[in-house]
Amino acid sequence: MREILTFGRYYREKLNLRVKKVPISISGFTCPNIDGTVARGGCTYCLNDSFSPNLNKISNKFYLNPNRENPFLNKHLEELKTQFYETSKIFRDKYKIDKFIVYFQSFTNTYADINTLKSLYEMALSFDGVIGISVGTRGDSVNEKVLNLLASFKEKEIWIEFGVQSIYDETAKITNRGESIEVIKNAIKLSKLKGLRVCGHLIFGLPNENQNMMLNSVEEVLKWGVDSLKIHPCYVVKNTALANDLNRGKFEPIEEDIYIETLVKGIKIIPDDIIIQRITAGIDDDSLIAPLWCRNKNKNINKIKRVLKREEILY
Ligand code: SF4
Repeated sequence: MREILTFGRYYREKLNLRVKKVPISISGFTCPNIDGTVARGGCTYCLNDSFSPNLNKISNKFYLNPNRENPFLNKHLEELKTQFYETSKIFRDKYKIDKFIVYFQSFTNTYADINTLKSLYEMALSFDGVIGISVGTRGDSVNEKVLNLLASFKEKEIWIEFGVQSIYDETAKITNRGESIEVIKNAIKLSKLKGLRVCGHLIFGLPNENQNMMLNSVEEVLKWGVDSLKIHPCYVVKNTALANDLNRGKFEPIEEDIYIETLVKGIKIIPDDIIIQRITAGIDDDSLIAPLWCRNKNKNINKIKRVLKREEILY
C-alpha cells in the first residue's frame, strides 16, 4: 500500500519529530490584487475587505505594502506573539506536539516593507519550539530581496507557498487572479534556485475547468519543481464575486464525486517524495454558499480516504 507523504510523516521521517503548522493572520497584510496595484476586489473566490469592510480592525484600516513604512509594526509583532502562543498552547495540550512551523497564512505575506517582513519572520523563528516558517504569497509579490531574506534563515525549515490554483491563463482571467501563470512559474523557479522549499496550491473546480485541465495543472506544477502540493475544491462563500457569479448562473460548483475522482487521479500522478499537505477544505459555518458538501470536512475526508484505500493508497 502506498502511504501518501503528508507534512506530519515528512517531519517524522526527516527529524523524528511531530511538527504542526501554526496558522497566523496578521491584520495589516493585504494583496496587490486587492489594493488596486494590479487589480481591485481580489480573486473572485477571495473573501476580503472589498466585500467585507470589517475584516481589518486592528490598525484602523492601515494596509501594508512594500513601499510604505509600517507605523504599526509593534502592534503586528504583538499580534504574532499572541496568536502563536495561544494556538501552540492548544497544540501542546491537545496533541502533545511541541515543534512548530509558523504559517503566515492570510493574504500575501511578502507584500510589506522589508523591515516589517524581517521583524515578523525573525520573531516567529525565535519562539519556543519553532523550527521554521511557511510564508503564503503570490508570484508577483516576491523579488530577490524577499527571497534572499527567507534564504538567509537557511538553518531553519523555510517554506514559501504560492497560490497557483490553475495553470491556465484563461482561468486566471475569469477568476481575476491579476497575474499571469508565467509570473507564478518564474517565482517558483527563482524560489527553488534560492534553496527554499516550495508548496504550490491548486484549486479543483474553478470556473469553466474540466477534469483534464485540473490534472494538467497538477502535472505542470510538478515540472516547476515544487516540493509539496495543497489541493482543495473551489467553494463559494458569501460576500465574494464568485457568489455573484453563482447567483447569476455563471458558475457551477464541482460535485463531490467528481472532486474525489479528480483528486485520486491527481494523487496518482504525484510522486511519492512530494509532500501532499492538503487534499480538501471545508468551512463549517453560514458563510458557505456552495457546494454544501464542503460544510462537513471530516465526512469528505473519510470518503476520500475510503476511495484512496480501494486504490491501495493510505492518507
Ligand atoms: S491572491 Fe490570495 S489574497 Fe490575493 S486576492 Fe487572490 S486569494 Fe485573495
